[in-house]
Amino acid sequence: MKTRTSSLALAVLAAAALVRADDTVTVIRVGTLIDGRSGAAQRDQVIVVSGRRIESVGPAGTFQAPEGARTIDLSQATVLPGLIDSHTHLFLQGQEAAEGGYDGQLLKRGIAYRAARATVAARRALEQGFTAIRDVETEGGGYGDVGLKQAIDEGHLPGPRIFASTLGISSTGGYALEGYAPEIVVPKGVQIVDGPVEARKAARQQLENGADWIKVYMTHRSWVDEKGALVSQPTLTLEELKAIVDEAHGWGRKVACHAYNGPGLRRALDGGCDSIEHGLDLDDAAVAQMAKQGTWYCPTVAVYYYDWRPENTPEGRKDRKRVEVHGPSFQRALKAGVKIAFGTDAGGFPWTEPMAQEFGRMVELGMSPMAAIRSATTAAAEMLGKAGELGVIAPGAYADIVAVRGDPLQDVAELGRVAFVMKDGLVFKDQLH
Ligand SMILES: [Zn+2]
Repeated sequence: MKTRTSSLALAVLAAAALVRADDTVTVIRVGTLIDGRSGAAQRDQVIVVSGRRIESVGPAGTFQAPEGARTIDLSQATVLPGLIDSHTHLFLQGQEAAEGGYDGQLLKRGIAYRAARATVAARRALEQGFTAIRDVETEGGGYGDVGLKQAIDEGHLPGPRIFASTLGISSTGGYALEGYAPEIVVPKGVQIVDGPVEARKAARQQLENGADWIKVYMTHRSWVDEKGALVSQPTLTLEELKAIVDEAHGWGRKVACHAYNGPGLRRALDGGCDSIEHGLDLDDAAVAQMAKQGTWYCPTVAVYYYDWRPENTPEGRKDRKRVEVHGPSFQRALKAGVKIAFGTDAGGFPWTEPMAQEFGRMVELGMSPMAAIRSATTAAAEMLGKAGELGVIAPGAYADIVAVRGDPLQDVAELGRVAFVMKDGLVFKDQLH
């Protein structure tokens, strides 16, 4: 009984912590500040948080804390803006055989089960310092992302700010589930459309039901051909994509396009996609077009190191080829000054795995730790249309603040050990005190 009482008390405390006191002033003493904007870290700073937002940032020196303010001492830590993951799938739990793979999640798990797991995933993201995510479709989880976002925004459970993409869009023959007897109707992981009229209608339906972004699949199957090149099947036509982009832009929203290479990638770029997801095999022409158009690149490098199939099988060759061409594509984009947004594809691998591994992959490929941090802060915020409000520690921004013990500019793996998380001015995690 005693145990029950104390766990109940804890639950009440946790719930209370999610209720905001809008007039609370918090002074954060910072050892090292990486604010998301400046080219270098700054020592001994003070951040003043009022309610949900940052009021001021400046040198500690002669700073006098306002009367009645509470103080958080992060003077032994490196403080950064809350991180942003621009490519997640809250409703997906990896592809592991023990979980029934991708098909098992759609065929054997009800929507309530999937939503329950998604709430855990959202919590996992926040624990790791990701205070905002662009969740790029629910993989058969319907409009669950919009519901989860609403519940988080209302303070019912902890999680990051969610930019939701709802169902995703592809064409007939352009998405799983597939491989079943043609007589059997199986669910699809996206909304299937054929023709510009259906494409526009799907975009309208998704936007009406709360999509912040539209997610489109421009390539689907891929394989290694007899010459050893990666080949991808294109899905939507240019006309179909243009209808979606035109509709989304009319609503002031943006379109994220999954595209590996080839005709599907070219259509994505010609059709006006705002971000290319994965972009495994970007040739010089694609990189030049992205730089010229200002198209974002969300490479999701780390996810392609998971679950390689046996070496001398068609699937195994594809797994290795994808990684082989991805690195040089990333480096071409980096050199050409293409705008890069950090994305993990978490959910494509289990949510128990560290999201920050992506930083290590980006740095391995030649990005500086500071640029990698920006891809997950200021750059991502710009892509999301939230420059100045997210991804930065500056007056007027939301008080989404994280801290690590070490120096991530020396060792970017520090970002995998986030020890303090504040979102919206509320402390969610604190392992430093
Ligand atoms: Zn994905």
